[in-house]
Amino acid sequence: MFLLILLFSIFGSIGVLLISALVLLFPESIRYRLVPNLVSYATGTLLGAAFLGMIPAGLKQAPVFSFSVTLLGGIVVFFVLEKLVLWRHSHEEQPSQQTATVPLILIGDGFHNLVDGVVIASAFLTSIPLGIGVSLAVIAHEIPQEVGDFAILLESGLSRGKALLLNGLASSTTLPGALFAYFWLDKTSSWVPYILALSSASFIYLALSDLTPGLRKDVGGMATLRQLLLLFAGIGTIAIFHHGQ
Ligand SMILES: [Zn+2]
Repeated sequence: MFLLILLFSIFGSIGVLLISALVLLFPESIRYRLVPNLVSYATGTLLGAAFLGMIPAGLKQAPVFSFSVTLLGGIVVFFVLEKLVLWRHSHEEQPSQQTATVPLILIGDGFHNLVDGVVIASAFLTSIPLGIGVSLAVIAHEIPQEVGDFAILLESGLSRGKALLLNGLASSTTLPGALFAYFWLDKTSSWVPYILALSSASFIYLALSDLTPGLRKDVGGMATLRQLLLLFAGIGTIAIFHHGQ
């Protein structure tokens, strides 16, 4: 179990970073078409992992009302954290006037990846299929996220090497997050369902507040159909791991 958590945390952070760096080598025209598709798919995996995986699993271990209240509280907390720029998933490649400065991007990314590590560990502590499904959702949303971060860091004048190094440091927080959660939750397992509720809140918030607004800009019928198909593909990927549960 410990090794699985370690493996998926490393892949969900450093592995994703290397994939994102490769995506950034693609010509801009391809990247522009690729990233929204990745975002649609990631939205499906996040919602699938929350509603098909973590919420049913958490509800088996905790009273329904206290679980729901924790989930609701989590959504409010992530709203406040986003206000504090600790929690952001911008996929705009063009930095706007309000775009956070480089240190803020890195701090926000570092904090976000720490939470992703906690999410991965709490899912694996519940069951292996839940852990794998949740890790896939982390990997799927982190790729477009890191591509966006790289683009902003490069546009703000950092060299490729420095952008990779700083982004790598910010991404590596997934590992301490996962290790902390593993050792802490292993001893206090009554907390696991509530951490699953907070993890579900983070996935739902990310999907609906950060990822879908970007997708709404493509209003054409074909674009909507493609987004829907990729959304279902994302949900379907997660459903495979929870079939018959
Ligand atoms: Zn993430």
